[in-house]
Amino acid sequence: MGEGCLSRVPAVFAALFPGRMAMVVADVNTWRVAGAEVYRHLLDAGIETGVFLIPDREFHAEWKYVEMVEAAVKGAGAVAVAVGSGVINDLCKLSSAHLGQSYICVPTAASVDGYSSFGASISYEGVKQTFDCPAPVAIVADIRVIAQAPKEMTAAGYADLAAKIPAGAEWMIADLFGTEPLIPDAWHVLQDVLDEMLSDPEGVAAGEPSAIAALFEGLTLSGFAMQAARSSRPASCTDHLFSHYLDMTHHRFRGKLQSHGFQVAVGTLTMCAFFDAFCEMDLGGIDVEALVAAWPTLEQEHERALKLFDGFVDPKLGYNVITQKYQGPDDVRRELSSVKAHWPELRDRLRAQVYPFRKMKHLFETVGAPSDPSQIGVTRAQLKDMVPKTQLMRWRINLLDLSLRAGIYDALVAAVFGPGGAWDLTDEKSF
Ligand SMILES: [Zn+2]
Repeated sequence: MGEGCLSRVPAVFAALFPGRMAMVVADVNTWRVAGAEVYRHLLDAGIETGVFLIPDREFHAEWKYVEMVEAAVKGAGAVAVAVGSGVINDLCKLSSAHLGQSYICVPTAASVDGYSSFGASISYEGVKQTFDCPAPVAIVADIRVIAQAPKEMTAAGYADLAAKIPAGAEWMIADLFGTEPLIPDAWHVLQDVLDEMLSDPEGVAAGEPSAIAALFEGLTLSGFAMQAARSSRPASCTDHLFSHYLDMTHHRFRGKLQSHGFQVAVGTLTMCAFFDAFCEMDLGGIDVEALVAAWPTLEQEHERALKLFDGFVDPKLGYNVITQKYQGPDDVRRELSSVKAHWPELRDRLRAQVYPFRKMKHLFETVGAPSDPSQIGVTRAQLKDMVPKTQLMRWRINLLDLSLRAGIYDALVAAVFGPGGAWDLTDEKSF
């Protein structure tokens, strides 16, 4: 990482892939901002180099592009040099894994945390999924290039990093439940420095190299955390599911697909609002046996899931997820007893982890990320409608699962979307 380090790409490539041909993979924009320069440096260094440009101007991380990149790289017998932002990197990551080899990443924006992560987030048959595949063997990050990325891309990266705040809190809940224990290496590498990495939204908005470098480093550490955990748990939870829902429904605003980070910004704010309301509740006084007696059967949950996802692009998504994550009365009793016994400590730990909604909103306003769903063309009513679906979009335990078990789900939704709430439906912003 450094200013003006694109010239180092050939040396890195030659050291890691001696004698191999390079294939610069870019799109029309990233070719202009860095791809052409990387290509020239590689040729100047005497490395045989090809180019594959994504043929479409607007594209998402979809399976057909993985196949295109794979065919191009395989056909040439080359190694990919991904020059671009999150999507280009994910396409190269998965296609390289299919070819049984690694690749080099040259990021052009501090827009996502996927550069250094294990796994690629790709839409396959209409459903956004994370495919297992290793991180690149090297990242050459030229801060000069990254700082010149469109402001909204950098703001999106900031929001993607900020999502680790509520995501961390949801991991604490899964840890308490025992479904996904905290992994110390994965936790500390990111969470210990996260506050600091998020502390300069003004500098990030102004494109100051030092602030951009700190943001990029934070995003990279998030990727390392995912590598350590071999899952996306350290970096995302319900905050990201709002984005996945919008991707799956091909949501557009003013004709344009909305960036991962901007969608995640809305999910992150929503989760901060949920945690604000959650920490106001008293779970130290719950009647565990009454809640266990009211706990639905798997058959009832199947019915609810099918109804909820009726007409959705993947109508069985919720059904499949609940099949995976359903827990019977004994588990629920154990979990609720644990929450009840540890309530004040749990609440204090969650409060120490999650930023209040107001604080997060202010950070996003400062950095230029969405601070209201209307800014990505989503109404508060639509957002409210997404909430029960996000509970059933991933097998991992989240805050909504705990709320359902504790019988406070409806109260939480009312606190966030009701009068005076963060997303008060009567205060709908027009767009
Ligand atoms: Zn993300």
